[in-house]
Amino acid sequence: MEETVVDTPYDVAIVGASLAGCATATFLGRAGKRVALLGRHADPGAYKHLCTTLIQASAEPAIQRLGLDGAMARAGGLRPSTAVWTRWGWITDADGARGFTIRREKLDPMIRELAASTPGVDFLPGHTLKSVLKEHGRVVGVGAETAEGVCREVRADLVVGADGRSSETAAQAGVKARIVKRHGRSGYFAFFRNVEVPHPGSAHLWFLEPDCAYAFPMDNGLSILAMMFPRAKASAFKKDVQGNFLRFFESIPQRIGGYARFDPADQVGKVIGLVDYENTWRHRPPPGLAFVGDAAVSGDPLFGVGCGWALQEAEWLADAIAPALGDARAQDRAVGAYGATLRRKLAAHFFLVSDYSTGRAYNPIEKLTFSAGARDAQAAHLVSEFGSRRIPVRELMTPAALAHAVKVNLTAGQAARATAQGNRAALQERNSSFTFTATGSPVTSVVR
Ligand SMILES: Cc1cc2nc3c(=O)[nH]c(=O)nc-3n(C[C@H](O)[C@H](O)[C@H](O)COP(=O)(O)OP(=O)(O)OC[C@H]3O[C@@H](n4cnc5c(N)ncnc54)[C@H](O)[C@@H]3O)c2cc1C
Repeated sequence: MEETVVDTPYDVAIVGASLAGCATATFLGRAGKRVALLGRHADPGAYKHLCTTLIQASAEPAIQRLGLDGAMARAGGLRPSTAVWTRWGWITDADGARGFTIRREKLDPMIRELAASTPGVDFLPGHTLKSVLKEHGRVVGVGAETAEGVCREVRADLVVGADGRSSETAAQAGVKARIVKRHGRSGYFAFFRNVEVPHPGSAHLWFLEPDCAYAFPMDNGLSILAMMFPRAKASAFKKDVQGNFLRFFESIPQRIGGYARFDPADQVGKVIGLVDYENTWRHRPPPGLAFVGDAAVSGDPLFGVGCGWALQEAEWLADAIAPALGDARAQDRAVGAYGATLRRKLAAHFFLVSDYSTGRAYNPIEKLTFSAGARDAQAAHLVSEFGSRRIPVRELMTPAALAHAVKVNLTAGQAARATAQGNRAALQERNSSFTFTATGSPVTSVVR
């Protein structure tokens, strides 16, 4: 029989040493707790490849509290504002919310190092969760296998599943993810150098109805170009991933919101992405267990909320449970309060993100606020604050905000109306003529 190593119990065992897990461990370690942080990868430099890492400004307080803002800037990370193209024109708010961009290749090792060097945190790399230990209906620890094949039992007052959207911790504990809305879009991206965009220094998002595209400036002179399209077209797209990716950007005429101008020869690495990405939420874990990050809430990547929310959730969870650990009933109440915080702060945003990911058209509120945002600075600021997730959804829809948007649109001049009509016609033309192809001539020229 294999020998099982059993440690002295910890206050908290965290499964998953990525953004959510490392941030939770850091906050709890600083609160004087003893934390085991289990990471599947033995290499401390491991990072998530499938992420375009625009971190919304809503996470700024958590990032500052972690002390990561300086480290990210020193590593070349940027603070872009946003420029959103809609059929009514650009919505920009250059003096408004600024998110963070930095490649995961840099961010993940940085936050892991932060957690591992926090007093009280035992970082256990190369530990893969295999089982969840339960006693009398309560989660009391985890069973993990090390990279060397040793079984290890890690017991703790609280187990935190921070192991991503397909959480094995949840599977082992019998907690199912609730699919909130059927996801209807596929998404792919690649890194490029020397990308020129209409609003330099901004993260660009184009709503092409139903396709979407984005261009984010990244550290070290790189940019990410990403495309999203209805999932029904995924099999056609996959017949020539590289060619269709470039043709997609080429198909966005200059008439549609300016353009991302780049030379395909400046591509760095392959086009990667995924076909499916269900919007999931895990409610009500059994006593002794909590979820954080994607393991708790995971929605469509289009609006770039996952990384920021992972860090914010870590802060909310750590602050809720730190004073309660060691007293099972107080701890259960604290985990319940944390769940309520998630619902209060994220549920409405999450619903809208998920709802738009079905591939639906704009709803009436989006039509009103986006059209006003393209025509008026105050309305643009509100849209930008909403997109950065710094304000609750209801603030986008206060009577005053809606009245202002109506007034902006009623008083919009002939030029604004003509712009909207022209954009709409150009969009329709592009959408009716563009299709993915199995093969095609390689795109080697500069993409308009
Ligand atoms: C294509 C794409 C683009 C995205 N772009 C953005 C964006 O621009 N902005 C944004 O904010 N979000 C984006 N996201 C979402 C973002 O990547 C996630 O929300 C974020 O990584 C969540 O962090 P996390 O720590 O919760 O989970 P993860 O980063 O998924 O980390 C989970 C960790 O758990 C570990 N693990 C898994 N199983 C086990 C196990 N059994 N034992 C031990 N460890 C385990 C994994 O190795 C990993 O380190 C994107 C996602 C995708 C797919």
